[in-house]
Formats: sequence, structure tokens, C-alpha cells
Amino acid sequence: MMFFQTLLDLIFPRSCLNCHSRLDSSKILCEKCHTELEFNQEIIQSDEHIFDCAYAVYDFNEIIQPLIHELKYNEMRNIAKFLGKQASKFILENPTFPKIDYIIPVPLHKVKKRSRGFNQAELLTKEISRNCNFTHLPKVMLRNRFTTTQTQLGRIERHKNVSAAFDLRKAKIIQGKNILLIDDVFTTGATVNSISNVLKSNGVSRIIVLTIARA
Ligand SMILES: [Zn+2]
Repeated sequence: MMFFQTLLDLIFPRSCLNCHSRLDSSKILCEKCHTELEFNQEIIQSDEHIFDCAYAVYDFNEIIQPLIHELKYNEMRNIAKFLGKQASKFILENPTFPKIDYIIPVPLHKVKKRSRGFNQAELLTKEISRNCNFTHLPKVMLRNRFTTTQTQLGRIERHKNVSAAFDLRKAKIIQGKNILLIDDVFTTGATVNSISNVLKSNGVSRIIVLTIARA
């Protein structure tokens, strides 16, 4: 495996995913592009949402966009590791970040997960739970309905599309707890809101949403 990777590096030298400058380590971005990424300080908090607040580590800028795309469609585990590490840093460096009992990824429907082979939110959750010492509950939320791709739908349709698409298992364990819900991108918040609805009706105390980027 190591030999194969070395061979690959010789044929296709690693380069920065943003500016394509040559990298000699297993990094994703060069030093210059990495320092251009700044943590987003804005917190989404409104009565319109069922979750208590939502953080996005970054704005959806031209550096983050291709990283999310690669993560979602090409299962680049080194990107999941990198983004998960940044999210962990974001949490650990924020002294006012809420106290968390459990961390849960936004689930993919099992058919979609099978065809894609992985759930990008789960890859991020694994990395964050390891770095921040949060307890990961990977199989508590299930997606019970195969929803149409969100990007082709309007705002109201999105809400309809995701409502009642989630099921909860082992509801007892989460009662009175603070949950950190992880996804790659926050768009309208419809998906995390639907999950929050299920969690809150099953006695969850607080729901904090964290995504890598906000569209
Ligand atoms: Zn670069």
C-alpha cells in the first residue's frame, strides 16, 4: 500500500487543491491557501428553527467549495480528516461553545449510502468526536425515506421533502441531553430542522448544529 502510494506520488505529484502548487506532504492545501481560510464567527439563532443554534466553520468560499465537492463525491478520506480537524479546532478554540453530550451525523438513506459507499457527515463526525472527545452515536438517527436531491427544490418544497423522513432508535439514551448534529453544508437548514423536530419530540434538551460551510 505504501509502495503503491509512493508510486502514485511519483506519477501524480500531490498539489494544493486550490492553487495547484506542488505539495511534498500529505496536505490538502498549501500554507498560503490554508491561511486564507478564516473561521466564520456568525451563529444562526432564530425562532424559525427547532434547533437551538447553528455554527458553520467556514463561508462557502472558492477554497471550501471544491473541498466539499471532493468529500461528497469522491470520498476523499484525507479531506474528511482535514475538514474534521478544522471543525474540531473551531470547537476547541471557542470558549463559549455549548456543552455537548452526544454527536450525531445527519444520516443518509441506506440505499444512497450503499450507492455512494459512505456518508460524508459520518466521516466528519468520526474525526470531530475523536479530537473533541465527544461520544459518537452513529446509528441513532435513520433516514427512512429516500428524498429527492435537495438542490433541485425550492425552499418550501425542501421543507416538505425532508419532513417525516427521519426515524429515531434508542430514544431513551438522548433524553435531556445536548446533541451536536453534524453535516457538510448548511443551506436552508431544512434537513437539520427536521431531525431537530424528531430529537426534541423525544426529549432532547438542546440541539447544536455544526456544518463545515454555509451556502
Ligand atoms: Zn494553494
